[in-house]
Amino acid sequence: MEALSKSDPEIFRLIREEEQYQRDSVRLIPSENYVSQAVLEASGSVLTNKYSEGYPGRRYYEGQRFVDQIETLVIERAKALFGAEHANVQPYSGSPANLAVYLALMKPGEGLMGLSLPHGGHLTHGWNVSVTGMLWRPVRYTVERETGRIDYDAVRALALKERPRVIVTGATAYPRLLDFAAFGQIAREVGAYLVADIAHIAGLIVGGMHPGPLPHADVVTTTTHKTLRGPRGAMILCRKELAERIDRAVFPGLQGGPHNHTTAAIGVALKEAATPAFRAYAERIVRNARALADELGARGFNLVSGGTDNHLLLVDLGNKGITGKQAAKALDRAGIICNYNTVPYDPRKPFDPSGIRLGTPAVSSRAMGEGEMRQIGRWIDEVVARPDDAALAARIAGAVGELCRQFPAPGLLRA
Ligand SMILES: *Cc1c(COP(=O)(O)O)cnc(C)c1O
Repeated sequence: MEALSKSDPEIFRLIREEEQYQRDSVRLIPSENYVSQAVLEASGSVLTNKYSEGYPGRRYYEGQRFVDQIETLVIERAKALFGAEHANVQPYSGSPANLAVYLALMKPGEGLMGLSLPHGGHLTHGWNVSVTGMLWRPVRYTVERETGRIDYDAVRALALKERPRVIVTGATAYPRLLDFAAFGQIAREVGAYLVADIAHIAGLIVGGMHPGPLPHADVVTTTTHKTLRGPRGAMILCRKELAERIDRAVFPGLQGGPHNHTTAAIGVALKEAATPAFRAYAERIVRNARALADELGARGFNLVSGGTDNHLLLVDLGNKGITGKQAAKALDRAGIICNYNTVPYDPRKPFDPSGIRLGTPAVSSRAMGEGEMRQIGRWIDEVVARPDDAALAARIAGAVGELCRQFPAPGLLRA
């Protein structure tokens, strides 16, 4: 970043500091990752200079001879990787992708049924502060109090009663497998479209660690920057019959020119995700999440649903005498980054809830394994037991830095 360091030292310095922070901390936020150097390079390329409203072969601007080839290649890779008939790779991010799908499938005021936010759903699944909860009539299913899991009979009963136009399955904080076939059956029975939002688990799906949503879902949306380990962006996959409606909803319905540098970087990530190394990566994510869950469970931590099948765990700290926010802040001082999170049926408020959410995609990208997860679990236990002990936090932060030096992260400067 030579040019940047000369022309804008302030921004340069802050980016470098962030890079060091990412390098020297254990990042357990399940939606975060480390992209490869190749993804960074495509993402920082001259493609950012282009305008290309429209789709390959049907643009509103001339000068698309290379951009058309790039977008076509990325579309083909997306279709092949997920087994989809059609792919749109232009959505700016996951939230606009979901909005585009709803605009394509529903009239304002129709029913949008999604997992309730405090039970692990996403804002864009019809929560009231999201535009998706204002334009459409939200219908919310929940997880069971006893098991922390989705009860498919209850989902079916609610769908039969409310008759939504769209049912969305997918989550940001659900540690178990999603049964896409069951959702598909329910959607067909009530005459709803099924949208599978696989933002968190896309990398697990292509890596063979989670069943895929096709052919059960009518439409699939995903971000590209979580377990899929690409740049910040999103994709929509669907059957041929819905392709035109989806494409028109993205452009010109919701967006203008696509971010071609992001499209290219998504293509690079999709190529990486099709390799045996990525399958091994997906397997490591899940193995690591189980190891972290085992270690915390053995230390008396209460895990929502009792454990995990995927890349994340949700820890209810109610029995530990500490709130989620206190724990997350104390862990940050010790070099362990996570986020506080509501747990299902949380008696506390969302800005200081009872839980923390932990995920293994980023640490697995550094090739950390089960032994490291157990060590991290022990550190979490120590910090949660003594959150105000500054000396303890400093000691663990030092050990975290030492661990991080042994496991270099893709795309970052070495220490
Ligand atoms: C992250 C996420 C999104 C939104 O993605 P943004 O890129 O942050 O807009 C949508 N749905 C689910 C399930 C997510 O986890």
